[in-house]
Amino acid sequence: MERIFNFSAGPSMLPLQVLEKAGQELVNYRNSGMSVMELSHRSNLFTDIITEAEQLLRELMAIPDSYKVLFIQGGASQQFAMVPMNLLGKNGKADYVNTGSWSKKAIKEAKKFGDIRVIATSEEANFTYIPEVDRTMIDPEADYVHITTNNTIEGTAYQAIPDTGNVPLVADMSSNILSDEIDVSKFGLIYAGAQKNIGPAGLTVVIIREDLIGGAQETCPTMLDYKTHSESGSLYNTPPTYGIYMAKLVFEWLKDLGGLKEMGKINREKAKKLYDALEESSMFSSPVRKDSRSLMNIPFVSDSPDLDAAFVKEAKTKGLETLKGHRSVGGMRASIYNAMPVEGVQSLVTFMSDFENYNKQKEESK
Ligand SMILES: *Cc1c(COP(=O)(O)O)cnc(C)c1O
Repeated sequence: MERIFNFSAGPSMLPLQVLEKAGQELVNYRNSGMSVMELSHRSNLFTDIITEAEQLLRELMAIPDSYKVLFIQGGASQQFAMVPMNLLGKNGKADYVNTGSWSKKAIKEAKKFGDIRVIATSEEANFTYIPEVDRTMIDPEADYVHITTNNTIEGTAYQAIPDTGNVPLVADMSSNILSDEIDVSKFGLIYAGAQKNIGPAGLTVVIIREDLIGGAQETCPTMLDYKTHSESGSLYNTPPTYGIYMAKLVFEWLKDLGGLKEMGKINREKAKKLYDALEESSMFSSPVRKDSRSLMNIPFVSDSPDLDAAFVKEAKTKGLETLKGHRSVGGMRASIYNAMPVEGVQSLVTFMSDFENYNKQKEESK
C-alpha cells in the first residue's frame, strides 16, 4: 500500500491507524452485520458511538459541564449565520476581528442579522499578522466578539486568546481545534468544520456555553437554532452518523497519543522544523510575521512564480502533494494538521533543500 504525504488544507490527512480501524470495521461493525453507515441513528450501537465521541471530546479539551457539545451539519460556513441568528438576541450588535478570508466571510454573513463592527484588522498588510485586541476596544454592550483563531489561508494564528471581559468570545477554530491545549472556559462558543483536524467533511462541532442557548428569534429556522440540537442531543434529525463515528476514532487516537498536551508538543516540533528550514533557506521564505505564525498552515514563497510552480510539480513526484498555495496568496502552503506525521514534514524539508541546491547549481552553471 502506497500512502502519500497530503499537505491539503482540507479535507486533509487522517491518521493511518484511524483509517485502518475504520476499514476493519467497515462491512460488519461489532457483529451487527452492518456498517456504521447503515445503522439507525436511534440504535443502541449508534447511541454508544455518539455518547463516546462526546465523552472523549470533553475529556480531550477539558470541556466544563456548563457547556454543550453539538454534532451538526452545514460546515463552519453555516456557523457564520447560526452564530448571529442565535446570539444577537440582547442588543443586536457584535464585534468582529478581521484576520483573513474566513473572518471576512463571517463578517459579511453576520451583517445580515445585526449591527456588526470590525474592531481590528490586518488587512492593510495582507493579513500577515494578528492585530492586537484588548478589552478597551470592545463594546461592553456587544452580544459577542468573534475571532478566527487560526487563519487557514493566510497562515496566522493567535498566540494568546484575547480577554473580552464579560462579553462572550466566539471562535472559528476550524483549522486548529485539538491542535494544542486551550482553556475552553475563555470562550462562549467554539465551532469547527471537521475536515481539518477532526474527521471527514460533513460534520461540524459546536461547543457552546449553556446560557448562550435559547436566544434565537421566533422566526429562526428549527435546524439553525442551537436549542434544537442541544435539547435533542444532536439527534433532532439524522446527524452525519459516519462522520461522528470517524471523529470518535480520531478522538481515541488522540487520547492514545497522550492527549492535547502531547499533540501540541508534536505540532510545535513539526512547525519548528519547517519554519527553521525557511529561515535557513535563501530561496524560500515565510510571508507571515514571526509573532503571528500558525502551527497548522504554513505558506511560503520563492521570488519566482515559475520556481514555485516547478516546486509544486516536482514535490508531487516525491509523494508530497497539495502544496500549491491558496489562489488568493500564491506560492506554496503546507498544511500540517494533527494527522501529518513528523516524517512528512521531514520529507518536505529535505525536498526543499534538495530543490534549492539543484536550482542554485543550475543557475551557476549557466
Ligand atoms: C475551512 C474553514 C472554514 C470553512 O469550513 P466549511 O466547513 O467548508 O464551511 C471556515 N473557517 C475556517 C477557519 C476554515 O479553515
